[in-house]
Amino acid sequence: MTPPEPLLAATGLRKSYGSTQALDGADFSIRPGEVVAVLGPSGSGKSTLLHCLAGIVVADAGTITYRGRELSAMNDAQRSALRRGEFGFVFQFGQLVPELTCAENVALPLRLNGTSRKEATRTAVEWLGRLEVEDVAGRRPGGISGGQGQRVAVARALVTGPRVLFADEPTGALDSLNGERVMRLLTDAARDTDAAVVLVTHEARVAAYSDREIVVRDGRVRDMARVA
Ligand code: ADP
Repeated sequence: MTPPEPLLAATGLRKSYGSTQALDGADFSIRPGEVVAVLGPSGSGKSTLLHCLAGIVVADAGTITYRGRELSAMNDAQRSALRRGEFGFVFQFGQLVPELTCAENVALPLRLNGTSRKEATRTAVEWLGRLEVEDVAGRRPGGISGGQGQRVAVARALVTGPRVLFADEPTGALDSLNGERVMRLLTDAARDTDAAVVLVTHEARVAAYSDREIVVRDGRVRDMARVA
């Protein structure tokens, strides 16, 4: 059987901020359902790569294709529709809306896509259950722990059934026990829904949850064979 086509692929990405070359010819590809860890020292360009792949930052040069469509050929509205419909995001700090309950936070992407309040709430609570935090459904983010908040954030990122989950240091603010729990739940949920995961981390134990690791150094990517 031939391997599936890449879902998301980039070649020769360059991005500068003033005189800082954040990306210097970076290549990347991920297949449907694959979990790829993006490792590398601080300042090497990992977040910039993630932001370019997700269509948040526009690269100076290079190409990015999602399901064969070039991102640079899309206008802002098309790119934002892609982000809303096909991509999910989890950052270091959950970035939940403090005024909303956890269930309302998870329901929000569905509400924005036009799902009824009843259906959105039902699905949100189901996702909180999958992430083992259904007990915080009625609480506001200020009243829960960091680990619970990240699990709510993962539920919110996956509730719309994205094809790619972008996670930038999702366990960076957690202790190792909570970090491991979030990673296990995140990767299990992504695999259940066949979502690909682009996982930026500088921690080897977080990267251990991936199928494949790549290392970014000085704005360039090199693949690393998994050391068994
Ligand atoms: P990493 O995620 O590996 O820590 P980044 O992609 O955040 O690396 O940053 C790569 C380089 O680009 C760093 O030197 C950083 O200071 C610079 N950089 C990133 N984003 C910006 C920005 N918005 N403005 C200016 N410089 C930036």
